[in-house]
Amino acid sequence: MTRRHLAVCGVAALIGLLMAGCTAAHASSAPATSAWHPAHDTAYGAAGAPSPSTTTTHRPGGSPTRSPSTDPSTPASPSASNSPSGSPSASPALEGKGLQLAMDKTADGSVALTFDDGPSEYTPQILAVLKQYNVKATFCLVGVNVKDHHDLVQQIVAAGHTLCNHSWKHDEHLGDKSPDAIRQDLQMTNDEIHKAVPDAPIKYFRHPAGNFTPAAVQVAQSLGMTPLGWNADPRDWDLTANKPGAPFTAKIANYVRTHVHAGTIVLSHDSGGDRSSTIAAYKQVIPALKQKYTLAALPTS
Ligand SMILES: [Zn+2]
Repeated sequence: MTRRHLAVCGVAALIGLLMAGCTAAHASSAPATSAWHPAHDTAYGAAGAPSPSTTTTHRPGGSPTRSPSTDPSTPASPSASNSPSGSPSASPALEGKGLQLAMDKTADGSVALTFDDGPSEYTPQILAVLKQYNVKATFCLVGVNVKDHHDLVQQIVAAGHTLCNHSWKHDEHLGDKSPDAIRQDLQMTNDEIHKAVPDAPIKYFRHPAGNFTPAAVQVAQSLGMTPLGWNADPRDWDLTANKPGAPFTAKIANYVRTHVHAGTIVLSHDSGGDRSSTIAAYKQVIPALKQKYTLAALPTS
């Protein structure tokens, strides 16, 4: 099964119930930027993963953290990345399912850059760009990648960025499982993060592909995490429609430049494929954003 994200400026009626400080629903002409999330569940079939059967696709050039040489659970052939289930035409009904249940804007009007699916070998480059411009961001970590990159988690925390749980192996259907299974997945992810940084606060949970369910929301909250959505998706994950390079970089940068407003939470990725265009785009666009907005990590207290 493939997975995707749907950027929704949702009428987040439940937000007020879900998180203190989150202001009224942000109704807008939702741009319907239906977005495919990087498909990479297959690679997350690590030992102990709740449901290896849910893993399916992995795009070419996927994160080296899940390369065959480093992760035996990774599909041996890139062809696995292009399985029919990876087609953007599949299962539109799943797009962004439940995203309206999550926080979709910051409480204080700051702009939150969020980077999902890592850590990976691209994470240090993202960290370098953020450091260059003295920007704090939020990283939504996948458990199996945390397991491979404790050092990068430590670097993220040391740099002052906020952590977010993005599930153990990016199971887009996690929220449809039993509360106990959801809890096990989220707790296992938090535990792995805490092996790297014992005291690191993990105050957010972003369901893979934004497929929040009431059960997933409830479990996340019971573990002290706020469901985290987004309201700007530059589709930097879309390596099917785009090849890494200047045009893709410009596309991402232009989207961010034109869709960021006060309170925007921007979805981006530091794993799940070649992230060079994401990195280059933020090098271009962060200085301009800083002219108009405060770029901040999501609060942890
Ligand atoms: Zn993701």
